[in-house]
Order: sequence, then C-alpha cells, then structure tokens
Amino acid sequence: MKVLIVEDEKTLAYDIEAFLSKLFYICDLAHTAKAGLEKVEGNLYDFILLDLGLPDKDGLSLLTDARKHNPDAAYIILTARGNVEDRVKGLDLGADDYLAKPFSLLELQSRMQAIARRKFAVNTHLVPLGDFEVDLQKRLVLHNNIEIDLTRKEFDLLSYLLLHNRRVLTRMQLSEHIWGSFADDDYDSNYIDVHIKNIRKKMSAFAAIDWLETVRGVGYKIKKQE
Ligand code: CA
Repeated sequence: MKVLIVEDEKTLAYDIEAFLSKLFYICDLAHTAKAGLEKVEGNLYDFILLDLGLPDKDGLSLLTDARKHNPDAAYIILTARGNVEDRVKGLDLGADDYLAKPFSLLELQSRMQAIARRKFAVNTHLVPLGDFEVDLQKRLVLHNNIEIDLTRKEFDLLSYLLLHNRRVLTRMQLSEHIWGSFADDDYDSNYIDVHIKNIRKKMSAFAAIDWLETVRGVGYKIKKQE
C-alpha cells in the first residue's frame, strides 16, 4: 500500500514514515500543500494523511484538490485543532477519518487497517480470485488448499491488483508500489511484465487465470470478482 504523508512538522512526518515503512507501506512525504499537490497529481495512493495546518495553504482546500486526482484514496486528517467544525468540514469534504494530535502511531495503524477493511473491501483475509483463494494475512495464494509458489514481489503485485480490481494499473503505478518511487529514467517497465508472466505461468498450471487482463499499452487489471 502506498501512503502520502502531508505534514509540515518534519519530526512527526519522519516518525510516521519510519513506523509505516516497517509495516511495509511505501511512503512519500510532502511538507507543504504545494508539494503535496504535486505528489497527488503524479501518483496513485491508497492512503493520504493530511495535516490541516500547512504553511502555504489550508489542508482542507488541499483535500478537495487531492480528491480530484486520487478519488479512490483513503484520506485521514491529522489535526492539532480542537475545532470540531474543521473536523466535520473535513469529513464532509470526503475524508475517511481524522486523528487529533498528539496521537499514537498504533492508533494510526489501527485506523488505517479499519479503513482498509471497509473501503478496500478487505473484509476477510481470504479473498476469492477465480478458482484461487488469496490469503492476505498469511500472504499465500491457494488452489484447492495447495499453495502456489509465488515470490514476495509476485505476491505483492497480485494482491495490489486484487485490491484495485476492475481498475487498470499502469506499469509505473505497479512499479512504484513494488519498488517505491522511481525517477522516470531510472525505471524499466519490463520488470512488471516479467513478474506478470511468471505469475501467469505459475498459476495457470493449476487453473484458468482469465481474470488477469493485459490492457494493451497501459498496464494490467484484475476483473471484478463475483
Ligand atoms: Ca502543521
């Protein structure tokens, strides 16, 4: 999962980044609204943590702009303001939750997990995928209880596509999720194709994988599972 942290208190921003990175979230940081907007214009995030009191612009107006570019992201407002009105306004503008500062990082983690379950429909750790079953907690793909031998990156790629089913993800978006942010010229889209090819090869030995679609010239998607 990819997270953008928009927070001008650098110590707090780095603490959140260090904490979430240990939980295998891939984090980007922005310390101003302007930098935050640049990030959301060019990236697809699962979570955007948004401080309301930013030096250059109000966090609430950034929320509105960010949602145009990342409508599917989960937004969590971080606010030191005791003002109930701001929180309500944030929720009205489409934020999924808010945390009042100071908050514990464990609290942040549990809120994020609750949102992931609700918003990304990860209601269970076992998600059906054609004739397969994906165990998101144990990080296994099963066919009739037989484990498919996927590498860590192959599993990351498959589960990321699964969490965004019906949506096409570009090779760049998939690369960023698997390897973190890339400078454009430093990136080889072929890596993703190779991983997808391996996934197809390993899984189709067990059952049809017609749910995994190549969208020519764009990327890949998993068809909505019934
Ligand atoms: Ca602030």
